[in-house]
Amino acid sequence: MKKALVTGITGQDGFHLTELLLGKGYKVCGLLNGQRNSRVIEFAEKFPQVELIQGDLTDFSSLIRAIDVSSPSELYNLGAISFVGLSFQQPELTADVTGLGPLRLLEAIRTLGAEKDIRFYQASSSEMFGKVQEIPQNEKTRFYPRSPYGVAKVYAHQICVNYRESYDMHVSCGILFNHEGENRGEEFVTRKISKGVVDIAKGRLDKIKLGTLEPKRDWGYAGDYVEAMWLMLQQNDPDDYVIATGKHHSVRDFLALALKIVGLDGDPESYVTIDKNFIRPAEVDLLVGDFSKAKNVLGWEPKTSFEELVQKMVEFD
Ligand code: GDP
Repeated sequence: MKKALVTGITGQDGFHLTELLLGKGYKVCGLLNGQRNSRVIEFAEKFPQVELIQGDLTDFSSLIRAIDVSSPSELYNLGAISFVGLSFQQPELTADVTGLGPLRLLEAIRTLGAEKDIRFYQASSSEMFGKVQEIPQNEKTRFYPRSPYGVAKVYAHQICVNYRESYDMHVSCGILFNHEGENRGEEFVTRKISKGVVDIAKGRLDKIKLGTLEPKRDWGYAGDYVEAMWLMLQQNDPDDYVIATGKHHSVRDFLALALKIVGLDGDPESYVTIDKNFIRPAEVDLLVGDFSKAKNVLGWEPKTSFEELVQKMVEFD
C-alpha cells in the first residue's frame, strides 16, 4: 500500500487531496498542530482512517519524527500561512512557515537518509508572479512577488529546485493559480462573496465589505487541482508545472455572477461597501496562467468552468 504524508491536511486542498488519495487506496497521514487548528474535528469526522501526527513546520524535530513514523513514499507540502492579507500583518511568521517550512522538510528527509524513498510535492503559488512580467504566466515567467506571502513562496520554490538539482531528489512544484471551492476559508474573496450573497438573499446581511472589485484572477476548482499534484509525483522525472484555467475574471465578475445565481438584480456595486481594511499595501492586479506544459506532460486540464465554480460555491453556502 502506498503511503502519503500531507502537511496542511486540514486546509482546503488537504480535504480534497485526502479524498483523492484515499480513493486511490493510499494510507494517508497528516501533520497537524492540533491546538491551533479549528478544522481538526471536522476533518477527523470526515476521514477517520487518516492518521494525524502532531507537528509543526517551524519545529524541525517534529518533522523528523512525523516522517519517520509515517515513512511515506509521497510527501505533499500544503502547509503554509496561505492568506496574502495575513502575510502583511505577520510577515516574519509567514517567512518562517511558508518559506522555511519546506526547507525543514527537505532537510528532515536528508537527515533520515530518505532522499531516494520519498517523492516531494511543493505547493508553489501564482502569487510568485505578482506584478506580472508577461501575460499569460508560464513556468519560465520571471517572479515579481508583491506580498510577504509571495516572497516566502519564491524562496520555498527556489529551495525546492535547488534540492532537486543538488541532491537528485524527486521534488516537484505545482505553481497553482487561485483555486476555490466549498472548503475555501472565509477570509478569501470568493468564499466571502458566495457566503455574503446568500446572507443578503436571506435578509441576514445588508452589504458585503470588500477592499476592491478590480483585481483579476485565474480561478479554478480546488478539486480539479489536487489531481495535478498527484500526477506530478507519478512522473519518472520531477519538474515544475503551472496549474490554471487560462481564463481570468475580476472580483466584480465573481460578485455579479454570484448575485445573479441567488436572484439579486441591479448594480453589483450596490451590494458592496468598500472597506479600506481589506485593501492591501501592494496589490496583484492580474493573474492568468498558461497550463500547456501540464496538459502536454501530465495530461491534466481543468474540468470545472468559472460559471460552474461560482454555482458550486453559492449552492454550498
Ligand atoms: P489571493 O489572490 O491569494 O490574494 O486571494 P484572495 O481571495 O484573498 O484575494 C483575491 C483578490 O481579491 C485580491 O486582489 C484581493 O485584494 C481582492 N479583494 C478585494 N476585496 C477583498 C476582500 O475583502 N477580501 C479578500 N480576501 N480579497 C479581496
